[in-house]
Amino acid sequence: MLIYVDGEYFSPEEAKISVFDHGLLYGDGVFEGIRCYNGYVFKLDEHLERLYDSAKSLMLKIPIPIEAMQEATLETLRRNQLREGYIRLIVTRGIGDLGLDPDKCHNPSVIIIADKITLYPQHYYENGLEIVTVSVRRNYPEAINPRIKSLNYLNNILAKIEGKQSGAVEVLMLNIDGYVAECSGDNIFIVKDEMIITPPAHLGILEGVTRNCVITLAREAGFEVEERVFTRHGIYIADECFLTGTAAEVIPVVKLDQRVIGNGEPGKVTQKLIAAYRHYANNFGTRIFPE
Ligand code: PMP
Repeated sequence: MLIYVDGEYFSPEEAKISVFDHGLLYGDGVFEGIRCYNGYVFKLDEHLERLYDSAKSLMLKIPIPIEAMQEATLETLRRNQLREGYIRLIVTRGIGDLGLDPDKCHNPSVIIIADKITLYPQHYYENGLEIVTVSVRRNYPEAINPRIKSLNYLNNILAKIEGKQSGAVEVLMLNIDGYVAECSGDNIFIVKDEMIITPPAHLGILEGVTRNCVITLAREAGFEVEERVFTRHGIYIADECFLTGTAAEVIPVVKLDQRVIGNGEPGKVTQKLIAAYRHYANNFGTRIFPE
């Protein structure tokens, strides 16, 4: 495997950053997780845009332009001969001293790792997930805005830890006001009376690239989609529920907090969207290798 670090390629053993990098010391940096399917990178422009937007919000200047980042991403995939896989882009604040001051970090680092992905087991897609609500609330946007995909993922990790204690593979997180926000690493949707509903981004969620793609695909398939605020009660009484994310794609949820959602099986709308998503992912995107 070859890993890109600041313009050069290294083996996993040789790919290193400093212990004084503020990405390590303070979680000061940003990242993206991207998939490629069948030789196509899924929504590369959207992921790069979110990466640069996240960095801008943190006043972190990414040292290379977006076009160079795109080319470095594709080149990393090519050097690793990957047509199916997962790409992790990381930009750290760079080397500083032991204080917080980001202005003392003069050279942000760019890291690109491309690897094979471990897929969620097929039975989750066939039978659906059982999830629970955790007590950890999603970060308050005026403290650490969840729209920034930063290297500080402790909020999500704390939620994940709590979920694992009750045997759940994914967890529901509420925002500070008790509204449904998102899951530890996925966005959430419900279906009620043929209407597809998902929380609006301003509620304090990561605006998922998969989420946005699924909204478009659903509208193209003739469904009505609304971004609307709702509580857990809305999920308990929904006809269907599903999650979206780069790793999970579109995955059905059949139970929340021991309540059976709908008839307890992956719903028809969810199944349609899973198929539409897979078709899109395998046939569209940025080509890794020239034809
Ligand atoms: N929410 C959170 C907190 C996430 O970490 C992710 C995964 N990046 C998502 C939602 C889904 O976003 P995407 O579809 O862009 O992967």
